[in-house]
Amino acid sequence: MILELQGIYKDYIQGKMRVPVLKDINFSMEEGEYVAIMGPSGSGKSTLMNIIGCLDQCTSGKVFLDGQDISRCNENQMSDLRLKKIGFVFQSFHLLPKQSALTNVELPLTYAKVPKKEREERALAALDRVGLAERVHFHPNQLSGGQMQRVAIARAIVNRPKLLLADEPTGALDSKSGTQVMELFQSLNDEGVSVLMITHDSEIADHAKRVVMIRDGILTERW
Ligand code: ADP
Ligand code: MG
Repeated sequence: MILELQGIYKDYIQGKMRVPVLKDINFSMEEGEYVAIMGPSGSGKSTLMNIIGCLDQCTSGKVFLDGQDISRCNENQMSDLRLKKIGFVFQSFHLLPKQSALTNVELPLTYAKVPKKEREERALAALDRVGLAERVHFHPNQLSGGQMQRVAIARAIVNRPKLLLADEPTGALDSKSGTQVMELFQSLNDEGVSVLMITHDSEIADHAKRVVMIRDGILTERW
Protein backbone atom coordinates (compact mmCIF):
# COMPACT_ATOMS: atom_id res chain seq x y z
CA MET A 1 0.00 0.00 0.00
CA ILE A 2 1.49 3.33 -1.00
CA LEU A 3 -1.17 5.37 0.80
CA GLU A 4 -3.76 4.70 3.45
CA LEU A 5 -6.04 7.27 5.09
CA GLN A 6 -7.93 6.26 8.22
CA GLY A 7 -10.70 8.46 9.58
CA ILE A 8 -9.26 11.78 8.46
CA TYR A 9 -10.90 14.92 9.79
CA LYS A 10 -9.70 18.45 9.12
CA ASP A 11 -11.16 21.54 10.73
CA TYR A 12 -10.03 25.07 10.04
CA ILE A 13 -10.32 27.59 12.83
CA GLN A 14 -11.70 30.89 11.68
CA GLY A 15 -11.97 33.46 14.44
CA LYS A 16 -13.86 31.56 17.10
CA MET A 17 -15.51 29.25 14.62
CA ARG A 18 -14.41 25.71 13.89
CA VAL A 19 -15.05 24.96 10.22
CA PRO A 20 -15.13 21.23 9.42
CA VAL A 21 -13.69 20.61 5.94
CA LEU A 22 -12.80 16.90 5.79
CA LYS A 23 -15.15 14.44 7.44
CA ASP A 24 -14.05 10.89 8.16
CA ILE A 25 -12.07 10.26 4.97
CA ASN A 26 -11.08 6.62 4.47
CA PHE A 27 -9.09 5.74 1.40
CA SER A 28 -6.29 3.50 0.26
CA MET A 29 -4.17 3.19 -2.81
CA GLU A 30 -1.96 0.29 -3.89
CA GLU A 31 1.54 0.92 -5.14
CA GLY A 32 1.42 1.58 -8.90
CA GLU A 33 -2.21 2.72 -8.96
CA TYR A 34 -3.46 5.77 -10.86
CA VAL A 35 -6.35 7.44 -9.07
CA ALA A 36 -8.28 10.65 -9.70
CA ILE A 37 -10.19 12.57 -7.04
CA MET A 38 -13.10 14.54 -8.46
CA GLY A 39 -15.28 17.06 -6.72
CA PRO A 40 -16.68 20.57 -6.99
CA SER A 41 -14.86 23.69 -5.91
CA GLY A 42 -14.68 24.03 -2.14
CA SER A 43 -15.27 20.33 -1.47
CA GLY A 44 -11.91 19.88 0.28
CA LYS A 45 -9.75 18.49 -2.53
CA SER A 46 -6.72 20.72 -1.99
CA THR A 47 -7.02 20.41 1.78
CA LEU A 48 -6.83 16.63 1.42
CA MET A 49 -3.98 16.77 -1.09
CA ASN A 50 -1.94 19.05 1.17
CA ILE A 51 -2.33 16.59 4.04
CA ILE A 52 -1.24 13.65 1.85
CA GLY A 53 1.63 15.72 0.46
CA CYS A 54 3.00 16.60 3.92
CA LEU A 55 2.24 20.29 3.46
CA ASP A 56 -0.40 20.32 6.20
CA GLN A 57 -1.64 18.06 8.98
CA CYS A 58 -5.06 16.61 9.72
CA THR A 59 -7.00 17.44 12.86
CA SER A 60 -7.53 13.75 13.60
CA GLY A 61 -7.06 10.43 11.87
CA LYS A 62 -4.07 8.62 10.46
CA VAL A 63 -2.15 8.90 7.21
CA PHE A 64 0.16 6.07 6.19
CA LEU A 65 2.57 6.86 3.39
CA ASP A 66 4.49 3.86 2.09
CA GLY A 67 3.68 2.07 5.35
CA GLN A 68 4.83 4.88 7.64
CA ASP A 69 2.41 6.82 9.87
CA ILE A 70 3.05 10.44 8.89
CA SER A 71 0.09 12.02 10.64
CA ARG A 72 1.99 13.32 13.66
CA CYS A 73 5.33 14.20 12.03
CA ASN A 74 7.16 17.41 12.90
CA GLU A 75 8.19 20.01 10.30
CA ASN A 76 11.60 18.45 9.66
CA GLN A 77 10.19 14.98 9.19
CA MET A 78 7.52 16.36 6.85
CA SER A 79 10.04 18.13 4.63
CA ASP A 80 12.17 15.01 4.61
CA LEU A 81 9.19 12.95 3.42
CA ARG A 82 8.41 15.52 0.75
CA LEU A 83 11.95 15.21 -0.55
CA LYS A 84 12.16 11.43 -0.45
CA LYS A 85 8.74 10.05 -1.28
CA ILE A 86 6.57 12.64 -2.94
CA GLY A 87 6.43 14.68 -6.10
CA PHE A 88 3.89 17.50 -6.10
CA VAL A 89 2.45 19.30 -9.14
CA PHE A 90 0.20 22.35 -8.69
CA GLN A 91 -2.33 24.05 -10.95
CA SER A 92 -0.28 27.25 -11.03
CA PHE A 93 3.13 25.53 -11.40
CA HIS A 94 4.83 27.22 -8.39
CA LEU A 95 8.11 27.82 -10.22
CA LEU A 96 10.68 30.35 -9.04
CA PRO A 97 10.26 33.16 -11.60
CA LYS A 98 13.85 34.41 -11.51
CA GLN A 99 15.47 31.02 -11.96
CA SER A 100 16.02 28.94 -15.08
CA ALA A 101 14.12 25.73 -15.75
CA LEU A 102 17.29 23.86 -14.80
CA THR A 103 17.68 25.60 -11.43
CA ASN A 104 13.98 25.09 -10.69
CA VAL A 105 14.26 21.37 -11.36
CA GLU A 106 17.46 21.09 -9.32
CA LEU A 107 15.79 22.63 -6.29
CA PRO A 108 14.64 19.44 -4.50
CA LEU A 109 18.12 17.99 -5.03
CA THR A 110 19.67 21.17 -3.66
CA TYR A 111 17.54 20.78 -0.51
CA ALA A 112 18.56 17.13 -0.36
CA LYS A 113 22.22 18.25 -0.51
CA VAL A 114 22.97 16.28 -3.66
CA PRO A 115 26.36 17.40 -5.08
CA LYS A 116 26.29 19.94 -7.92
CA LYS A 117 27.38 17.66 -10.75
CA GLU A 118 24.88 14.91 -9.99
CA ARG A 119 22.18 17.52 -9.41
CA GLU A 120 22.71 18.95 -12.83
CA GLU A 121 22.82 15.57 -14.54
CA ARG A 122 19.60 14.44 -12.94
CA ALA A 123 17.81 17.73 -13.60
CA LEU A 124 18.87 17.65 -17.25
CA ALA A 125 17.63 14.07 -17.56
CA ALA A 126 14.29 15.02 -15.98
CA LEU A 127 13.90 17.98 -18.34
CA ASP A 128 14.76 15.74 -21.27
CA ARG A 129 12.15 13.28 -20.02
CA VAL A 130 9.42 15.94 -20.23
CA GLY A 131 10.56 17.06 -23.69
CA LEU A 132 12.30 20.28 -22.66
CA ALA A 133 15.96 19.47 -23.34
CA GLU A 134 16.09 22.54 -25.58
CA ARG A 135 14.68 24.89 -22.95
CA VAL A 136 16.80 24.20 -19.87
CA HIS A 137 18.16 27.73 -19.60
CA PHE A 138 14.82 29.45 -20.20
CA HIS A 139 13.09 31.29 -17.37
CA PRO A 140 9.40 30.70 -16.61
CA ASN A 141 8.33 33.94 -18.34
CA GLN A 142 9.97 32.64 -21.54
CA LEU A 143 7.90 29.46 -21.48
CA SER A 144 4.28 28.66 -22.33
CA GLY A 145 1.90 27.42 -19.64
CA GLY A 146 2.24 23.86 -20.86
CA GLN A 147 6.03 24.12 -20.82
CA MET A 148 5.99 25.59 -17.31
CA GLN A 149 3.88 22.70 -16.13
CA ARG A 150 6.32 20.26 -17.71
CA VAL A 151 9.18 21.98 -15.85
CA ALA A 152 7.12 21.53 -12.67
CA ILE A 153 6.65 17.85 -13.50
CA ALA A 154 10.39 17.46 -14.09
CA ARG A 155 10.97 19.02 -10.65
CA ALA A 156 8.39 16.64 -9.15
CA ILE A 157 10.08 13.53 -10.58
CA VAL A 158 13.73 14.48 -10.20
CA ASN A 159 13.79 12.82 -6.76
CA ARG A 160 12.28 9.65 -8.22
CA PRO A 161 9.27 9.78 -5.90
CA LYS A 162 7.05 6.79 -5.26
CA LEU A 163 3.94 8.94 -5.23
CA LEU A 164 3.14 11.73 -7.63
CA LEU A 165 0.45 14.14 -6.41
CA ALA A 166 -1.16 16.62 -8.76
CA ASP A 167 -3.70 19.26 -7.76
CA GLU A 168 -5.64 20.31 -10.88
CA PRO A 169 -2.51 19.90 -13.06
CA THR A 170 -4.34 20.84 -16.26
CA GLY A 171 -6.56 23.51 -14.71
CA ALA A 172 -4.56 26.41 -16.16
CA LEU A 173 -3.71 24.79 -19.50
CA ASP A 174 -5.20 24.69 -22.99
CA SER A 175 -6.42 21.26 -24.05
CA LYS A 176 -3.37 20.37 -26.15
CA SER A 177 -0.97 21.09 -23.27
CA GLY A 178 -3.34 19.26 -20.94
CA THR A 179 -3.14 16.20 -23.16
CA GLN A 180 0.67 16.30 -23.05
CA VAL A 181 0.55 16.41 -19.26
CA MET A 182 -1.81 13.41 -19.23
CA GLU A 183 0.54 11.49 -21.56
CA LEU A 184 3.42 12.17 -19.20
CA PHE A 185 1.47 10.98 -16.18
CA GLN A 186 0.51 7.82 -18.05
CA SER A 187 4.10 7.02 -18.96
CA LEU A 188 5.28 7.69 -15.40
CA ASN A 189 2.53 5.40 -14.10
CA ASP A 190 3.57 2.75 -16.66
CA GLU A 191 7.02 2.91 -15.06
CA GLY A 192 5.53 2.17 -11.65
CA VAL A 193 5.02 5.63 -10.14
CA SER A 194 1.75 5.81 -8.19
CA VAL A 195 -0.28 8.81 -9.34
CA LEU A 196 -2.97 10.64 -7.37
CA MET A 197 -4.56 13.51 -9.25
CA ILE A 198 -7.23 16.03 -8.39
CA THR A 199 -9.47 17.40 -11.08
CA HIS A 200 -12.97 18.68 -11.57
CA ASP A 201 -12.84 17.76 -15.27
CA SER A 202 -14.35 14.32 -15.94
CA GLU A 203 -12.41 13.91 -19.21
CA ILE A 204 -9.16 14.40 -17.30
CA ALA A 205 -10.33 12.05 -14.54
CA ASP A 206 -10.96 9.36 -17.16
CA HIS A 207 -7.19 9.07 -17.69
CA ALA A 208 -6.96 7.50 -14.24
CA LYS A 209 -7.80 3.86 -13.68
CA ARG A 210 -9.92 4.62 -10.61
CA VAL A 211 -11.97 7.66 -9.74
CA VAL A 212 -13.15 8.71 -6.28
CA MET A 213 -15.56 11.53 -5.56
CA ILE A 214 -15.43 14.14 -2.81
CA ARG A 215 -18.36 16.32 -1.87
CA ASP A 216 -18.60 18.52 1.22
CA GLY A 217 -15.56 16.81 2.68
CA ILE A 218 -16.94 13.29 2.29
CA LEU A 219 -15.16 10.84 0.00
CA THR A 220 -16.96 8.09 -1.90
CA GLU A 221 -15.57 5.48 -4.28
CA ARG A 222 -16.76 5.39 -7.88
CA TRP A 223 -15.22 2.39 -9.57
P1 ADP B 1 -11.11 22.58 -3.22
O1 ADP B 1 -9.67 22.37 -3.45
O2 ADP B 1 -11.94 21.34 -3.35
O3 ADP B 1 -11.68 23.69 -4.04
P2 ADP B 1 -10.26 23.45 -0.58
O4 ADP B 1 -9.69 22.25 0.06
O5 ADP B 1 -9.32 24.46 -1.10
O6 ADP B 1 -11.32 23.02 -1.68
O7 ADP B 1 -11.21 24.17 0.49
C1 ADP B 1 -12.23 23.48 1.17
C2 ADP B 1 -12.91 24.39 2.17
O8 ADP B 1 -12.00 24.75 3.18
C3 ADP B 1 -13.41 25.69 1.56
O9 ADP B 1 -14.66 26.00 2.14
C4 ADP B 1 -12.38 26.70 1.98
O10 ADP B 1 -12.95 27.96 2.12
C5 ADP B 1 -11.90 26.17 3.30
N1 ADP B 1 -10.48 26.50 3.53
C6 ADP B 1 -9.42 26.11 2.79
N2 ADP B 1 -8.26 26.56 3.30
C7 ADP B 1 -8.60 27.26 4.41
C8 ADP B 1 -7.85 27.97 5.41
N3 ADP B 1 -6.52 28.05 5.36
N4 ADP B 1 -8.53 28.55 6.42
C9 ADP B 1 -9.88 28.48 6.49
N5 ADP B 1 -10.64 27.80 5.60
C10 ADP B 1 -10.02 27.21 4.57
MG1 MG C 1 -8.35 23.21 -4.81
